[in-house]
Amino acid sequence: MEKHALYPNLFEPLDLGFTQLKNRVLMGSMHTGLEEEKEGLKKMAVFYEERARGGVGLIVTGGIAPNRSGWVAPFSSRMSNKRHAKKHKIITEKVHKAGGKICMQILHSGRYGYHPLVVAPSAIKSPISPFKPRALSQRGVMNTIADFVNTAKLSQSAGYDGVEIMGSEGYLINQFIAQHTNKRNDQWGGSFENRIKFPIEIVKEIRKATGPNFIIIYRLSMIDLIENGSTKEEVVILGKEIEKAGATIINTGIGWHEARIPTIATMVPKAAFTWVTETIKKELSIPLITTNRINDPETAEKVLSTGQADMVSMARPFLADPELVNKAFESKKDEINICIACNQACLDHVFKQKRATCLVNPKACYETELTAQTVNKSKRIAVIGAGMAGMSFSLEALKRGHSVDLFEKESTLGGQFKLAGRIPGKEDFKDSIKYFERMLDKNGVTLHLNSNVSIEELKEFDEIVIASGVSPRNVIIPGIENQKVISYPDLISGKRKAGNKVAIIGAGGIGYDVAEFLTHLKSNNEKQEFQALWGIDASLESPGGVLPDGAKNMKVNREVYMLKRSLGKFGSSLGKTTGWIHRQMIKKAHVNLIQGIEYEKIDDEGLHIRTGKKRHCLKVDNIIICAGQVSNTSLYDECINAELNVHIIGGAKKASELDAKSAIREGTELGLSI
Ligand code: NAP
Ligand code: SF4
Repeated sequence: MEKHALYPNLFEPLDLGFTQLKNRVLMGSMHTGLEEEKEGLKKMAVFYEERARGGVGLIVTGGIAPNRSGWVAPFSSRMSNKRHAKKHKIITEKVHKAGGKICMQILHSGRYGYHPLVVAPSAIKSPISPFKPRALSQRGVMNTIADFVNTAKLSQSAGYDGVEIMGSEGYLINQFIAQHTNKRNDQWGGSFENRIKFPIEIVKEIRKATGPNFIIIYRLSMIDLIENGSTKEEVVILGKEIEKAGATIINTGIGWHEARIPTIATMVPKAAFTWVTETIKKELSIPLITTNRINDPETAEKVLSTGQADMVSMARPFLADPELVNKAFESKKDEINICIACNQACLDHVFKQKRATCLVNPKACYETELTAQTVNKSKRIAVIGAGMAGMSFSLEALKRGHSVDLFEKESTLGGQFKLAGRIPGKEDFKDSIKYFERMLDKNGVTLHLNSNVSIEELKEFDEIVIASGVSPRNVIIPGIENQKVISYPDLISGKRKAGNKVAIIGAGGIGYDVAEFLTHLKSNNEKQEFQALWGIDASLESPGGVLPDGAKNMKVNREVYMLKRSLGKFGSSLGKTTGWIHRQMIKKAHVNLIQGIEYEKIDDEGLHIRTGKKRHCLKVDNIIICAGQVSNTSLYDECINAELNVHIIGGAKKASELDAKSAIREGTELGLSI
């Protein structure tokens, strides 16, 4: 077969002997929340079918427990009998019909389970679950191995091409391997040889039970990122044993869930952990998959071409765009809706027991609900505002056959999202704007930039969609007109520069973004900088891959104060799975946090504040206002008065909900229904 011109390694088939994968892309396991919903398996089947049709080489499902104690949460998905397996047939049939291959992940959560039946090698509570586990008895260990094997056999009968055994991320198998969680003194604990018996037995027995023509992926924690985790030498020994036990492929696991080192958030540099797989790959002979922060075909190709791994795993990128692989194959990279690693609609949802979806693609996991119907009669629609709400609406409406005129007062598209793309570590956000720009153009939008449309002009249209977004809230403090005061859009856009001593008024998401913007110093080697900042041992020699002398603070050349009037924890409004990272970054940058403040006045001396009875002047060069937003609704009010057919979406509708997730979702839903 001729090699692909742009991505020759990505589109090189992978021969597994008894079967062949058509390319080197694995869709990594993700819990969607559909697993537990009524009729959820039917929805899941369509979800996976779309990804299979989108060209991915191999899919791995979200984790399915082998027994009740392995549940992630009460009554979460489990496969322990024929009835369970039969229900999964709809998934495998649809995926196979779409030309794909799919493995089922078997996940026993061990002490991470959020329910009272939890078990673990030893009775040690995890920091991320309130439930103390019961230590498995010897018989309990044997029964658990048998349950893994039973589930693998059932998955085979359900038509799966293989299984992935979840041996990383701090779940049960990992808990057996690490000294940190395994304090047993029987044959399953103590020496490293004893601690790895549990995964080896599982793989060996599954191979025996399922025969030679069944894919067994073992997800091996190659860097635990916790104290007392495995060393490189131990990881290599385990890898070799897993190979011998009959695994087909080894997938890389990076970091336990309880680790306090970011591994997948936006601020983690692209392909920041592929070096870990590369180090281990040198010692093993079966194919290895690498993972984490690979979200576009270029990055994937680079990783493969430099021999760091045999395959790449992407998970969230397939929520953002089910057709990622086909688009790469057709060399249409600019048409890929890139995952921006924000976690806001996927992991944050799962942690709140909500169905996962995607900020940039609200149709993800709603494939059977958010469907598009071509219109019989095309309408002329005017959209005011080319932020995320306006753009996502326009795209859906155009695709269904409407004619869309998009009016934007600025010279470029993107609205508030443009500002996010200028925050250090959020550079990927720019890709989303580029995607919408490209797709709007492809679908024939009529764009009016630098345009202040009048009500008279709008009267020509059948429908009007107001997506005019928000403006920063004006705060009332005596002296607010002082030259020292800068609005956050003026600062982030580069219109104005801040001095060396700065106060930030407001500690919401934007306040945090601004604090990071002000304290970040550009680095020549961002991966090295990232490792130093979080104390990652690049030699992999230290247990868990964490440096014994810990993480470093940042070099900063600014003194920054972040202020709020209310009392309570700073950063409590930030994302569930990423808030802790922002809080850490601010700490590492020595940002001073002051709460319970009253702002008295601003003058040439600085910002005068009062906390309780104490008065104080922060002698700062600049004061950045990050005090939230208000909706831009004047045109909407005019349309209502003129009795036009008008809709309002995004920040213009509700400034307090200014966030791209609801903006894109509202835009998409209206675009699909108008
Ligand atoms: P926000 O979260 O509502 O925070 C506004 C801040 O301004 C609060 O800390 C508030 O603190 C203060 N404030 C409000 N009114 C004020 C007034 N009149 N005078 C002085 N201070 C005032 O708004 P935001 O930071 O602009 O963020 C908006 C949205 O953007 C968020 O809902 C979030 O979804 C999204 N976002 C999230 C992230 C992230 O998660 N990393 C990043 C960027 C944006 P006090 O009232 O205590 O003074
Ligand atoms: Fe990626 Fe954010 Fe979508 Fe999750 S919500 S898949 S992190 S873009």
